[in-house]
Amino acid sequence: VQETVPKRRVAIIGGGLVGALAVLYFAKRGWQVSLFELREDLRVPENKKNLSHRSINLALSARGLSALKRISLGLDDKILEHVIHMKGRMIHLGEGKLKSQLYGVFGECIHSVEREILLELLLNTAATFTNVKMYFQHQFKRCNFDDGILEFENKKTGNPFQDSADLIIGADGAFSAVRTQLMRVVRMDYSQEYISHAYLELTIPPRVNDKDEEEFAMDPNHLHIWPRHSFMMIALPNRNKSFTCTLFMPFENFDALKTEDDLMEFFRKYYADSIPLIGEDQLKKGYFRNPRGSLMSIKCKPYHYKDRAVIIGDAAHCMVPFYGQGMNCGFQDVEMLNGIFEEYEISAVQSSDKLALALEEFTKRRHPDAIAICDLAMYNYIEMRSSVVKPWYLLRKRIEETLYWLFPTRSIAPLYTMVSFSTMRYSEAVQRWKRQGFLLNVIGVSILTTVTAASIWIGYYRF
Ligand code: FAD
Repeated sequence: VQETVPKRRVAIIGGGLVGALAVLYFAKRGWQVSLFELREDLRVPENKKNLSHRSINLALSARGLSALKRISLGLDDKILEHVIHMKGRMIHLGEGKLKSQLYGVFGECIHSVEREILLELLLNTAATFTNVKMYFQHQFKRCNFDDGILEFENKKTGNPFQDSADLIIGADGAFSAVRTQLMRVVRMDYSQEYISHAYLELTIPPRVNDKDEEEFAMDPNHLHIWPRHSFMMIALPNRNKSFTCTLFMPFENFDALKTEDDLMEFFRKYYADSIPLIGEDQLKKGYFRNPRGSLMSIKCKPYHYKDRAVIIGDAAHCMVPFYGQGMNCGFQDVEMLNGIFEEYEISAVQSSDKLALALEEFTKRRHPDAIAICDLAMYNYIEMRSSVVKPWYLLRKRIEETLYWLFPTRSIAPLYTMVSFSTMRYSEAVQRWKRQGFLLNVIGVSILTTVTAASIWIGYYRF
């Protein structure tokens, strides 16, 4: 008779993108996994109408894909069938002028993916594991980490529900209740910063061509940006040939547009080419009906408590969305945590003194990276809405790309390439970027000086 060995139990709180991927990694490692999600199961067709239609699509890049690949369930290939590749930014300069800026010198792309499709893929895959139980409409309330007792409210019945686990993973997003509970037992450093900008989503529907077929109203293989210095709009393609536009601007600018006339005057001034694409009626409806979201950055440390709990994803590090890295970073958290569990030989069968060390190592290794990408995301907001049209930025970008193209294995690589097309640690990418910045400035200034001197010289001899 084979003795069945009781498996170690992990409770994953939050069935968003990061929690759902964590379920798969732990299930694959042989843990007994329970997922608790506040919202309804989005795979049930009737629930789709209750979905909050925010941040409908996302940019998936190398780190996210690496985490989807590493688990060897074919998730990367499956999701790549549902994405639209974006090879660069399409800058809408005003008066209908467009300028394409490629992201990579070797044809690298980021991928526009619908949040719902990705989450459905992860949850459907989780449902194929016999060691996974999923509880929807269960709100985590509190826990006793040392005893491993968790308390929930069943949102459908209103009844309390209790469960227990050897390990608790908090993947419950920016307003994490697990993080709040952790703060009671660890001396957690914590900071939260709202930016003055809000975001609002609009839609560019497909247009109908001469053959009565629906097609994209703009080039689908670019991330479109309308940079307007203190605010901007972006648009990412969807597979149904629409685009989801996101308007980012300070709350007071949103508040100033009180009437439909105000709105149209504003759009005519700053985003004129988008009006026929969105459609005047849809623009008015969308602007006044759709919710505005606020944006914030959260940093905290440590992420863990003894061998009992750890937080990942937005629960551990929430960033403004301007580098398109929030989900990618959260996916990389899961991949890194799994790698550390392998290094420390953490078993799903018996408890180990090493688990506390492994969780501590996760905080130690991940924190500098999380800080680096939170700061970069903030920096990229200025780059996207303003720098991308400045001559100095464009010159530096050109030099950086040329050097990278000539010597791809040497130490100079564009920051965007290091962040979006590699899995190098974010903290290392920032260090390299700072180191190469001085050199690029020297080359840039030398080019400018040479060009200026040459122009003066030519001018002197001609006149
Ligand atoms: P969440 O997605 O917030 O999921 C947390 C889950 O926990 C939710 O399902 C929630 O219902 C559940 N939950 C919360 N509280 C409880 C509780 N008490 N009990 C049980 N369950 C609970 N990232 C990118 O990589 N690329 C992009 O292009 C990109 N674009 C973005 C655009 C915008 C406008 C925004 C706002 C964000 C964008 N992001 C992007 C960031 C990305 O959306 C997040 O980083 C990502 O969703 C984080 O995933 P998560 O699973 O950690 O958290």
